[in-house]
Amino acid sequence: MTPALVDSHCHLLAAPEGKRRDAQTLLDEARAAGVVGFVVVGVGETTAEAHAAVAFARAHADIVATVGVHPHDARGCDDAMFAEIAALAADPEVTAVGEIGLDFHYDHSPRDVQRAVFRRFVGLARAVHKPIVIHTREAGEECLGILEEEGARDVGGVIHCFSEDLPFARRALDLGFHLSFSGIVTFKTATSIHEVGRFAPADRILVETDAPYLAPVPLRGKTCEPAMVVHTAARLAELRQVPLVELAAQTTVNARHLFGLGA
Ligand SMILES: [Zn+2]
Ligand SMILES: [Zn+2]
Repeated sequence: MTPALVDSHCHLLAAPEGKRRDAQTLLDEARAAGVVGFVVVGVGETTAEAHAAVAFARAHADIVATVGVHPHDARGCDDAMFAEIAALAADPEVTAVGEIGLDFHYDHSPRDVQRAVFRRFVGLARAVHKPIVIHTREAGEECLGILEEEGARDVGGVIHCFSEDLPFARRALDLGFHLSFSGIVTFKTATSIHEVGRFAPADRILVETDAPYLAPVPLRGKTCEPAMVVHTAARLAELRQVPLVELAAQTTVNARHLFGLGA
């Protein structure tokens, strides 16, 4: 039996020119591999990907969209861009705000700008009553602090591509957040992620590819695609010592619930 999985975080248009495959082909291949739902993330330097994510969701019953401004792009988020994303966030096809957060590893945007944009978007999520998709890298403490201060608990959401440790996981869970595991959980060296993978409550875990960025083992080096989510799910099932079909059913229910994905 093919496990029915939701890819809870993918970008369909973010692969570089030349490596980017047709989105329809990616979706069809993933469906053939058992993927029954997709959360398509609409972020980028401009609002083009946010509009595209909404269009994908409108055209496909098994897709929902998120819109936001990635911390990498925070420096370009002026009032006009914020207003455009805010208008999209109210669309019924958009079921979460994100990915938003802090990335102090790459520092593509100045940190004070990242913080301000992050706070503004948490406020937007609260205003539209939709959950938040969090991207955080080397900024865990500050990220949690902002979520706590800005009342993110009221809407909840997910820590996408979980790459923090157990104490962070506990605080995020206390805030009502889900934890989404990406290809990183398949890495042999990711022992603190393995620990969180074993620990997290069954009703708060999700799986994702973060395509095109993070191909799981054994497909490292390839461009990541939504069909690859099964490898991440299989590793998480192994860590939790449950059958893959059970892990798939649980994470799919969780994703449907969090993102309002139709069955
Ligand atoms: Zn991210
Ligand atoms: Zn992403």
